[in-house]
Amino acid sequence: MNHRTPIVAANWKMHTTVRTAAELCRALRESIDNVKSVEKVVCPPFPFLALAHQTLAGSSLKVGAQNVFWEEKGAFTGEVSPPMLADLCEYVIIGHSERRKYFGETDETVNRRLKAAMAKGLRPIFCIGETGDERQAGRTNEVLLRQVRGGLAGIEITSGFVVAYEPVWAIGTGVPATGEMANDAIGLIRREVASLYGGELAQATRIQYGGSVDGANIDEFMAEPEVDGALVGGASLKADVFTAIVEAAARPKGVG
Ligand code: PEP
Repeated sequence: MNHRTPIVAANWKMHTTVRTAAELCRALRESIDNVKSVEKVVCPPFPFLALAHQTLAGSSLKVGAQNVFWEEKGAFTGEVSPPMLADLCEYVIIGHSERRKYFGETDETVNRRLKAAMAKGLRPIFCIGETGDERQAGRTNEVLLRQVRGGLAGIEITSGFVVAYEPVWAIGTGVPATGEMANDAIGLIRREVASLYGGELAQATRIQYGGSVDGANIDEFMAEPEVDGALVGGASLKADVFTAIVEAAARPKGVG
């Protein structure tokens, strides 16, 4: 039995418009505002952060961004800085595998983003995970340890820090990991956090699972002792499905 409050985050990726983002925020406010035993975070695309911030103000739903640059300001066309986000959201996803795959993100650039975001009081959702080839080659643990050590180099985390274990082969594929795989990987990550920062902080740190989570499989993940919630992509775009996921995460562990 752990005492960590589960955290379920919706990664809308590059989806929604002004109209559908507003509708989704309103629908979620209606359906999950009163689910208090889970922390809920909505991560829309940058142009809809202010809208989400306004629509969810005064509710228990929090807003997160999907990325952030490390510089504060300057000639960086198209980038968004930590101080720009700090008034609009509490969380920021950093190191998502789609950023690593399509936009050249490395452990080093992830580390720079984490440092810059935390310096402005943003809470990171720090994403790590192995590819299918790495798992096949038996390299999962080595890759996760490298990502944790590289991403967190020189960083003092606090108990608000969130990690998302997201096996790349499970993201957007409809092929989730098993609960056991998620539990094993998250256990490894937590032990590494303990060796870097001590057992107390490791026990307080929420580590989510992400990768094809939906209303039908969330119970399998939440039943595992190490899994502290989910980072949800595709299934977070449907208010009823995301609501079902949040409600499942709210049930005490061991009650399926
Ligand atoms: C994600 O975007 O972090 C994710 C896990 O996506 P999906 O749920 O669609 O696999």
